[in-house]
Amino acid sequence: MLLNDYLQATFGCKVYKLSLSARVTCPNRDGTLGTGGCIFCSAGGSGEFAACADRSVPEQIAQAKARVAAKVPGEAKYIAYFQSYTNTYGDPIYLERIFREAMEPEEVVALSVGTRPDCLPEGILNMLERLNRIMPVWVELGLQTIHERSAEYIRRGYELPVYDEAVRELHKRGISVITHLILGLPGETHEDMKASLQHVVDVGSDGVKLQLLHVLKDTDLADEYAAGRVSVMSMEEYIDLLCELAPLIPHEMVIHRLTGDGDKKLLIAPMWSADKKRVLNEVKRKVLPLLL
Ligand code: SF4
Repeated sequence: MLLNDYLQATFGCKVYKLSLSARVTCPNRDGTLGTGGCIFCSAGGSGEFAACADRSVPEQIAQAKARVAAKVPGEAKYIAYFQSYTNTYGDPIYLERIFREAMEPEEVVALSVGTRPDCLPEGILNMLERLNRIMPVWVELGLQTIHERSAEYIRRGYELPVYDEAVRELHKRGISVITHLILGLPGETHEDMKASLQHVVDVGSDGVKLQLLHVLKDTDLADEYAAGRVSVMSMEEYIDLLCELAPLIPHEMVIHRLTGDGDKKLLIAPMWSADKKRVLNEVKRKVLPLLL
Protein backbone atom coordinates (compact mmCIF):
# COMPACT_ATOMS: atom_id res chain seq x y z
CA MET A 1 0.00 0.00 0.00
CA LEU A 2 1.33 3.42 -0.90
CA LEU A 3 1.91 5.90 1.94
CA ASN A 4 -0.62 8.44 0.66
CA ASP A 5 -3.35 5.79 0.55
CA TYR A 6 -2.44 4.64 4.05
CA LEU A 7 -2.50 8.20 5.40
CA GLN A 8 -5.82 8.97 3.73
CA ALA A 9 -7.34 5.75 5.11
CA THR A 10 -5.92 6.31 8.61
CA PHE A 11 -6.35 10.05 9.10
CA GLY A 12 -9.03 10.82 6.51
CA CYS A 13 -7.16 13.70 4.91
CA LYS A 14 -3.90 14.75 3.30
CA VAL A 15 -0.98 14.43 5.70
CA TYR A 16 2.43 16.02 5.14
CA LYS A 17 5.79 15.42 6.75
CA LEU A 18 7.51 18.23 8.61
CA SER A 19 11.25 17.54 8.61
CA LEU A 20 12.67 18.61 11.95
CA SER A 21 16.08 18.55 13.55
CA ALA A 22 16.67 17.16 17.04
CA ARG A 23 20.19 18.63 17.08
CA VAL A 24 21.79 15.29 17.77
CA THR A 25 24.74 13.52 16.17
CA CYS A 26 25.42 9.91 15.28
CA PRO A 27 27.75 7.27 16.79
CA ASN A 28 29.13 6.73 13.32
CA ARG A 29 30.29 10.33 13.24
CA ASP A 30 31.18 11.33 16.80
CA GLY A 31 33.94 8.74 17.18
CA THR A 32 31.97 6.15 19.16
CA LEU A 33 31.85 3.80 16.16
CA GLY A 34 33.69 5.95 13.65
CA THR A 35 34.21 9.52 12.51
CA GLY A 36 33.56 9.36 8.78
CA GLY A 37 29.91 8.31 8.90
CA CYS A 38 28.32 5.92 6.44
CA ILE A 39 30.03 6.17 3.08
CA PHE A 40 26.99 7.75 1.38
CA CYS A 41 25.99 10.11 4.20
CA SER A 42 26.19 13.83 3.55
CA ALA A 43 27.28 16.41 6.10
CA GLY A 44 23.59 16.98 6.88
CA GLY A 45 23.32 13.44 8.27
CA SER A 46 20.97 12.15 5.55
CA GLY A 47 18.40 14.84 6.28
CA GLU A 48 18.97 17.83 4.05
CA PHE A 49 15.36 18.92 4.21
CA ALA A 50 15.13 19.57 7.92
CA ALA A 51 13.97 23.01 8.96
CA CYS A 52 16.57 25.38 10.36
CA ALA A 53 18.34 23.30 12.99
CA ASP A 54 19.37 26.16 15.28
CA ARG A 55 15.74 26.96 16.10
CA SER A 56 13.53 25.47 18.81
CA VAL A 57 11.20 22.64 17.81
CA PRO A 58 8.06 24.87 17.83
CA GLU A 59 9.89 27.39 15.60
CA GLN A 60 11.00 24.62 13.28
CA ILE A 61 7.42 23.35 13.05
CA ALA A 62 6.12 26.82 12.15
CA GLN A 63 8.84 27.17 9.50
CA ALA A 64 8.25 23.70 8.03
CA LYS A 65 4.47 24.22 7.99
CA ALA A 66 4.91 27.51 6.13
CA ARG A 67 7.00 25.67 3.57
CA VAL A 68 4.28 23.05 3.04
CA ALA A 69 1.50 25.70 2.98
CA ALA A 70 3.33 27.63 0.25
CA LYS A 71 3.14 24.54 -1.96
CA VAL A 72 -0.25 23.14 -0.93
CA PRO A 73 -2.60 25.72 0.56
CA GLY A 74 -5.52 24.66 2.74
CA GLU A 75 -6.12 22.53 5.82
CA ALA A 76 -3.65 19.75 6.44
CA LYS A 77 -2.40 17.35 9.08
CA TYR A 78 1.27 16.67 9.73
CA ILE A 79 3.78 14.06 10.78
CA ALA A 80 6.60 15.45 12.90
CA TYR A 81 9.60 13.80 11.29
CA PHE A 82 13.03 13.78 12.91
CA GLN A 83 15.09 12.69 9.96
CA SER A 84 18.71 13.79 10.09
CA TYR A 85 21.41 11.95 12.09
CA THR A 86 20.43 9.47 14.84
CA ASN A 87 17.41 10.79 16.68
CA THR A 88 17.50 8.36 19.59
CA TYR A 89 21.18 9.03 20.26
CA GLY A 90 21.07 11.39 23.20
CA ASP A 91 19.73 12.05 26.65
CA PRO A 92 16.27 10.38 26.87
CA ILE A 93 14.94 13.27 28.99
CA TYR A 94 15.96 15.85 26.38
CA LEU A 95 14.66 13.69 23.53
CA GLU A 96 11.32 13.09 25.25
CA ARG A 97 10.94 16.83 25.82
CA ILE A 98 11.52 17.77 22.18
CA PHE A 99 9.41 14.88 20.85
CA ARG A 100 6.55 16.00 23.11
CA GLU A 101 6.98 19.58 21.84
CA ALA A 102 6.72 18.27 18.28
CA MET A 103 3.54 16.34 19.12
CA GLU A 104 1.93 19.33 20.83
CA PRO A 105 0.21 21.10 17.87
CA GLU A 106 -3.28 19.78 17.27
CA GLU A 107 -2.65 19.20 13.56
CA VAL A 108 0.33 16.87 14.23
CA VAL A 109 -1.02 13.32 14.04
CA ALA A 110 2.11 11.14 14.21
CA LEU A 111 5.75 11.23 15.25
CA SER A 112 8.39 9.67 13.03
CA VAL A 113 11.90 9.13 14.38
CA GLY A 114 14.80 8.21 12.13
CA THR A 115 17.54 6.26 13.86
CA ARG A 116 19.90 3.28 13.93
CA PRO A 117 18.84 -0.05 15.45
CA ASP A 118 21.90 -0.06 17.72
CA CYS A 119 20.72 3.18 19.36
CA LEU A 120 17.57 1.90 21.03
CA PRO A 121 18.42 1.17 24.67
CA GLU A 122 15.71 0.22 27.16
CA GLY A 123 15.17 3.79 28.41
CA ILE A 124 14.63 5.10 24.89
CA LEU A 125 12.32 2.21 23.98
CA ASN A 126 10.23 2.87 27.07
CA MET A 127 10.08 6.59 26.29
CA LEU A 128 8.91 5.84 22.72
CA GLU A 129 6.30 3.45 24.13
CA ARG A 130 4.96 6.25 26.37
CA LEU A 131 4.72 8.61 23.40
CA ASN A 132 3.07 5.93 21.27
CA ARG A 133 0.17 5.95 23.74
CA ILE A 134 -0.47 9.60 22.82
CA MET A 135 -0.24 9.25 19.03
CA PRO A 136 1.30 6.81 16.54
CA VAL A 137 5.09 6.70 16.76
CA TRP A 138 7.02 5.36 13.80
CA VAL A 139 10.66 4.43 14.09
CA GLU A 140 12.63 4.52 10.85
CA LEU A 141 15.62 2.19 10.79
CA GLY A 142 18.45 2.65 8.28
CA LEU A 143 19.18 -0.98 7.44
CA GLN A 144 20.18 -0.38 3.79
CA THR A 145 21.13 -4.03 3.15
CA ILE A 146 21.12 -7.42 4.85
CA HIS A 147 24.46 -8.39 3.31
CA GLU A 148 27.41 -8.04 5.66
CA ARG A 149 29.95 -7.37 2.91
CA SER A 150 27.90 -4.39 1.72
CA ALA A 151 27.29 -3.26 5.31
CA GLU A 152 31.05 -3.24 5.87
CA TYR A 153 31.64 -1.35 2.64
CA ILE A 154 29.18 1.39 3.59
CA ARG A 155 30.53 1.37 7.20
CA ARG A 156 27.07 0.82 8.66
CA GLY A 157 28.59 -0.25 11.95
CA TYR A 158 26.18 -2.93 13.18
CA GLU A 159 25.26 -6.45 12.14
CA LEU A 160 21.93 -7.76 10.92
CA PRO A 161 20.80 -9.43 14.20
CA VAL A 162 20.90 -5.97 15.82
CA TYR A 163 18.23 -4.82 13.36
CA ASP A 164 16.15 -7.97 13.92
CA GLU A 165 16.26 -7.46 17.68
CA ALA A 166 15.33 -3.76 17.37
CA VAL A 167 12.28 -4.66 15.28
CA ARG A 168 11.22 -7.23 17.91
CA GLU A 169 11.64 -4.76 20.77
CA LEU A 170 9.74 -2.00 18.98
CA HIS A 171 6.92 -4.33 18.02
CA LYS A 172 6.72 -5.63 21.59
CA ARG A 173 5.86 -2.05 22.52
CA GLY A 174 3.36 -1.55 19.69
CA ILE A 175 5.62 0.85 17.77
CA SER A 176 5.59 0.77 13.96
CA VAL A 177 8.85 0.18 12.12
CA ILE A 178 9.81 1.61 8.74
CA THR A 179 12.92 0.11 7.20
CA HIS A 180 15.18 1.94 4.78
CA LEU A 181 16.92 -0.05 2.05
CA ILE A 182 19.37 1.31 -0.52
CA LEU A 183 19.11 -0.14 -4.01
CA GLY A 184 22.23 -0.27 -6.13
CA LEU A 185 24.95 -0.70 -3.52
CA PRO A 186 28.25 -1.65 -5.19
CA GLY A 187 28.51 -5.36 -5.90
CA GLU A 188 24.89 -6.18 -5.07
CA THR A 189 22.88 -8.16 -7.62
CA HIS A 190 19.15 -7.99 -8.10
CA GLU A 191 18.94 -11.26 -6.15
CA ASP A 192 20.85 -9.67 -3.25
CA MET A 193 18.44 -6.74 -3.16
CA LYS A 194 15.43 -9.04 -3.39
CA ALA A 195 16.84 -10.99 -0.42
CA SER A 196 17.17 -7.76 1.59
CA LEU A 197 13.58 -6.80 0.87
CA GLN A 198 12.34 -10.31 1.62
CA HIS A 199 14.08 -10.20 5.00
CA VAL A 200 12.43 -6.90 5.85
CA VAL A 201 9.06 -8.42 4.90
CA ASP A 202 9.78 -11.56 6.93
CA VAL A 203 10.63 -9.67 10.12
CA GLY A 204 7.32 -7.83 9.78
CA SER A 205 8.52 -4.28 9.17
CA ASP A 206 5.37 -2.15 8.91
CA GLY A 207 6.76 0.07 6.20
CA VAL A 208 9.62 0.28 3.74
CA LYS A 209 11.54 3.06 2.06
CA LEU A 210 13.38 2.04 -1.08
CA GLN A 211 16.06 4.51 -1.95
CA LEU A 212 18.18 4.53 -5.07
CA LEU A 213 21.91 4.83 -4.32
CA HIS A 214 22.78 8.49 -4.73
CA VAL A 215 26.25 9.89 -4.92
CA LEU A 216 26.28 13.17 -3.02
CA LYS A 217 28.96 15.86 -2.86
CA ASP A 218 31.50 15.74 -0.03
CA THR A 219 30.94 12.09 0.80
CA ASP A 220 33.44 9.26 0.64
CA LEU A 221 31.15 7.63 -1.90
CA ALA A 222 31.77 10.63 -4.17
CA ASP A 223 35.52 9.86 -4.02
CA GLU A 224 34.81 6.22 -4.86
CA TYR A 225 32.65 7.32 -7.77
CA ALA A 226 35.27 9.78 -9.05
CA ALA A 227 37.88 7.02 -8.90
CA GLY A 228 35.65 4.81 -11.04
CA ARG A 229 35.17 2.20 -8.31
CA VAL A 230 31.41 2.75 -8.07
CA SER A 231 28.78 3.01 -10.78
CA VAL A 232 25.15 4.03 -10.55
CA MET A 233 22.04 2.57 -12.15
CA SER A 234 20.36 3.92 -15.24
CA MET A 235 16.70 4.83 -14.89
CA GLU A 236 15.71 1.84 -17.02
CA GLU A 237 17.68 -0.52 -14.77
CA TYR A 238 16.17 1.00 -11.66
CA ILE A 239 12.61 0.74 -12.94
CA ASP A 240 13.23 -2.87 -14.01
CA LEU A 241 14.56 -3.62 -10.54
CA LEU A 242 11.50 -2.04 -8.89
CA CYS A 243 9.32 -4.20 -11.13
CA GLU A 244 11.08 -7.26 -9.72
CA LEU A 245 10.76 -6.05 -6.12
CA ALA A 246 7.14 -4.83 -6.21
CA PRO A 247 5.49 -8.28 -6.07
CA LEU A 248 7.48 -9.10 -2.91
CA ILE A 249 5.86 -6.29 -0.93
CA PRO A 250 2.71 -7.45 0.89
CA HIS A 251 -0.32 -5.19 0.56
CA GLU A 252 -0.35 -4.32 4.27
CA MET A 253 3.25 -3.06 4.19
CA VAL A 254 3.28 0.71 3.72
CA ILE A 255 5.57 1.88 0.92
CA HIS A 256 7.00 5.20 2.02
CA ARG A 257 9.22 5.67 -0.99
CA LEU A 258 10.09 3.98 -4.25
CA THR A 259 12.55 6.54 -5.55
CA GLY A 260 15.39 8.64 -4.25
CA ASP A 261 15.04 11.91 -2.47
CA GLY A 262 18.54 13.37 -2.64
CA ASP A 263 19.19 17.09 -2.37
CA LYS A 264 19.59 18.37 -5.94
CA LYS A 265 22.27 20.83 -4.81
CA LEU A 266 24.41 17.93 -3.59
CA LEU A 267 23.60 15.33 -6.22
CA ILE A 268 26.50 14.09 -8.34
CA ALA A 269 24.92 10.93 -9.77
CA PRO A 270 22.70 9.60 -11.15
CA MET A 271 21.47 12.93 -12.55
CA TRP A 272 18.36 11.38 -14.08
CA SER A 273 17.03 10.93 -10.53
CA ALA A 274 16.68 14.72 -10.23
CA ASP A 275 13.93 14.63 -12.86
CA LYS A 276 11.32 13.51 -10.37
CA LYS A 277 8.37 13.96 -12.70
CA ARG A 278 9.84 11.64 -15.30
CA VAL A 279 10.82 9.02 -12.71
CA LEU A 280 7.41 9.12 -11.04
CA ASN A 281 5.69 8.74 -14.40
CA GLU A 282 7.73 5.63 -15.09
CA VAL A 283 7.01 4.28 -11.60
CA LYS A 284 3.29 4.90 -12.09
CA ARG A 285 3.26 3.32 -15.53
CA LYS A 286 5.37 0.24 -14.86
CA VAL A 287 5.77 -0.41 -11.14
CA LEU A 288 2.47 0.48 -9.46
CA PRO A 289 0.42 -2.03 -11.48
CA LEU A 290 2.65 -4.78 -10.04
CA LEU A 291 1.99 -3.91 -6.40
CA LEU A 292 -0.13 -6.39 -4.49
S1 SF4 B 1 23.89 6.25 10.68
FE1 SF4 B 1 22.71 7.78 9.51
S2 SF4 B 1 23.44 9.80 10.22
FE2 SF4 B 1 24.91 8.23 10.90
S3 SF4 B 1 26.50 8.27 9.33
FE3 SF4 B 1 25.04 6.62 8.80
S4 SF4 B 1 23.51 7.57 7.45
FE4 SF4 B 1 24.66 9.23 8.43
